[in-house]
Amino acid sequence: MLSIKNLNVNIANKEILKDFNLDIKEGEVHVIMGTNGVGKSTLVKALSDHYDCEVTKGEVTFKGKNLLELDASERANEGIFMSFQNPVEVHGVNNMYFLKSAVNEKRAYKKQEEVNSAQFLKEVKSIIKEYNLNDEIIKRNVNEGFSGGEKKKNEMLQLLVLKPELIMLDEIDSGLDIDAIKLVAKAVNSMLDGKRSVLMITHYDRLLELIKPDYVHILKDGKIIKSGDYNLALELQKRGFEGVGEDNESS
Ligand code: ADP
Ligand code: MG
Ligand code: MG
Repeated sequence: MLSIKNLNVNIANKEILKDFNLDIKEGEVHVIMGTNGVGKSTLVKALSDHYDCEVTKGEVTFKGKNLLELDASERANEGIFMSFQNPVEVHGVNNMYFLKSAVNEKRAYKKQEEVNSAQFLKEVKSIIKEYNLNDEIIKRNVNEGFSGGEKKKNEMLQLLVLKPELIMLDEIDSGLDIDAIKLVAKAVNSMLDGKRSVLMITHYDRLLELIKPDYVHILKDGKIIKSGDYNLALELQKRGFEGVGEDNESS
């Protein structure tokens, strides 16, 4: 699904990722771990064409297409979903309007007709009910005045409505209480159908207990220095990044 080869990414003229390699196949859940400032957010930002990032070298293909040729909205329309570490407030834009526009933009890209408004409202309301979200969430403007937890729940509402193929989550669990973490896990797990894939960044194994990763990677000095399964996350939790060593293996 996603193949990253020798990717180099600069931020503010500083080299953050260097010869980074990663392959994500259909249905796989990958986790990137690493110390603060190592470049975890840079990776997912570069993959979603964030303006902070400058890709200076490398190849990225998504479903066989050259991802680097696509702009941010084309990448979203192709099926990439990105939940930022700090979701932005979109002032003056009603959340329900935003959700519907996002879905319709994706449908137009795929040459499908617009969603039926009544049916779409019904779908959104059933998600709100199933996930115990506040009804107000679709009446308010996008993230405007939302608490940190409400913003992350709104990201999950977007996820459930957009049904992307590659789900990228950047520290979705930071600052969330255990009920909100469970909600995130339920939403992400509901999307996992053997075809969709996940690339997530987290510091905590609490989320990983609920969304079982297939692969855990440690990022250091611009590349993956060690890969393993869920046990690597448990080992990290116990011994820290200094304690687990390197094997210079990239997946
Ligand atoms: P992580 O998510 O692993 O904590 P980041 O990918 O956010 O790390 O950041 C990697 C490095 O790039 C850090 O040194 C950070 O300070 C720097 N950086 C990130 N964004 C910017 C920016 N907009 N301007 C300058 N430096 C930045
Ligand atoms: Mg950080
Ligand atoms: Mg980060």
